[in-house]
This record gives sequence, structure tokens and C-alpha cells, in this order.
Amino acid sequence: MTTVGHPRTEPELLALLRTLNRSGLRGGGRAPHKPLLLLWLVDRLAASGNSETRYEEAAEPVGRLIAQYAEARSVPDGERAALPFRLLEAELWAATDAFSGPLPAHAGHRRLLDLGARGRLHPAVEELLHQQPVRDRVRTLLLAEVGGAGTGGTLEQSLRDALPPAEPRYRQETRRVRDSRFAGALLPLYGHTCAVCGFGGLLDGVPVGVQAAHVHAHADGGPDVVQNGIALCGLHHALFDYGALGLSEELTLMVSPRFVGGEGHGGTPVAGLDGAPVRQPREAAHRVGREYVGWHTKNVFRH
Ligand SMILES: [Zn+2]
Repeated sequence: MTTVGHPRTEPELLALLRTLNRSGLRGGGRAPHKPLLLLWLVDRLAASGNSETRYEEAAEPVGRLIAQYAEARSVPDGERAALPFRLLEAELWAATDAFSGPLPAHAGHRRLLDLGARGRLHPAVEELLHQQPVRDRVRTLLLAEVGGAGTGGTLEQSLRDALPPAEPRYRQETRRVRDSRFAGALLPLYGHTCAVCGFGGLLDGVPVGVQAAHVHAHADGGPDVVQNGIALCGLHHALFDYGALGLSEELTLMVSPRFVGGEGHGGTPVAGLDGAPVRQPREAAHRVGREYVGWHTKNVFRH
């Protein structure tokens, strides 16, 4: 394990931002890829409260900014955001695949999408950036790093355009409360462990390694009721949401015939699961409802 020195104070953060390593980025000294990704992340943090982002969300807007402000045109369009996303300093940022595993060294745009790559500024960095004066000075420094002729006002406008419309804060609050209520009602019914593999538990009374998964996706109108939920570890949650795992009407597990485990341990999480019963709450009234299973089988499971 490499020890990474995360900046804890504003001077440490600014010093690090002044010495971003541009060597992996074609175009050399003035390559603005990392400052532009950072500006986008800082603004996103200010708008939404956290910097966590999926590569899928960042690729287009950040790629567009880079296309606008990079002098070097040697990087193919689609690859622009992939470079800083993967290469941004680990002191600032952690980028992983969908299962929190490391990203392959040369992963490009397509591969990052396939891996469900995501990233987040280190919590210590986020904490510094939550303070507006720090954020302002960081932005000033990064804007200067992008440099070039006449980018000032135009760049600010481009950055505003690159952000998704902000969700009103009261809705964020409502969602957070709602999510924690759903998890709070569901997870105890499963003993705070994954219904598939039994992983998970409590750390100082807070559930760790286990999540409240919706069967009928919430984004599609699935309700926050325990009958529409199942406790899953991160791994089985991801496989369930991608449709690699499904549930039969009898509440046994189905493994997608299209799922092929990767090299190494890629197949281990689903080995022997096809046809196995999924653990359910003792009370029949709390078990997963057929209508929700039906929705998942029809819309998510990969037949
Ligand atoms: Zn599990």
C-alpha cells in the first residue's frame, strides 16, 4: 500500500495544485486537462455538496472543456477526459472501477465506461473546498493554470454550461432523509447482512458493507417500501443493478446466461448462485413482493 499525503491545509492544497504533474498529458507544460477537470469538480462540489462522479457523467462536459482550451489537438476527442480522470494525483482524488478496484494503467475512454469508473476528491480536500474563501483561491489558481489568451470570462461561462442543473437543496435533503429511512427500515430485517452472501454488519452501530437495494429501481418510480427492497453487499448490489443477477418468482437467484466471470476472481461472486434461494425476512409481510421482482426481471435482468 502506498502512503499518500493528502493536503490538510489550504497552503498544502495550493502547493499541490501548483505542481500538478502534466507529463502523462500530451501537450506538455500547459496541458490544461487536470486544471479543467478540477475546476469542474470544484464547481460540482459547490453545487451538490460532494464531488463523487461517475466517469460517464464527466466525460462529455469535461471533454468539451478540454477541447476548447487545450492547445494540443493530438488527443482524440473521446479520450480527452479519460486522461485526467485516470491520472489526477492520488493525493487529491481516488478513481476506481465500479467495485472500488484499481483502474488499469492505460484505460482509455471506452474502457473507463465499461468499467463503470468513478472518482471522488479525497474527503480532506472536499472539506477544505467546502470553505468558500478556500474554494475561491483554488479556482483563481486553476483558472490561471488553464491560462491562454482571453479565457477569463469565456472560461467561467463554459464552466457554468458544463455543470448539470443543480438539484434544489431541499430536494437533496428530502432524498437523504428518505434514503436513510428506507435503509433504516430494511437492513435490520436482514440482520444488516447481504441476502445473497451474508457479508456486512455494523460498525459502531452504523451499517457497513451492506446496502438497501431497490428491486423496482427508485429512479423508475419504484417505491421506498421494504417489500421493494433487499439488503445486498456492494458487489451483489452492482451485479443486481446491472442485471447479471436476478430473482425468480419463487425468490431464488438467477444468474444471467450472458454473464461471464472475468479472469482471477471475476466469477466467484456468482459461482453456484443460480437457483439458490435468497435469504428473506422472517415475516412473510416483509419479503420481496412479486410485482417488484416482475419489474426487475422484465426491465433489468439480462436474459
Ligand atoms: Zn453479497
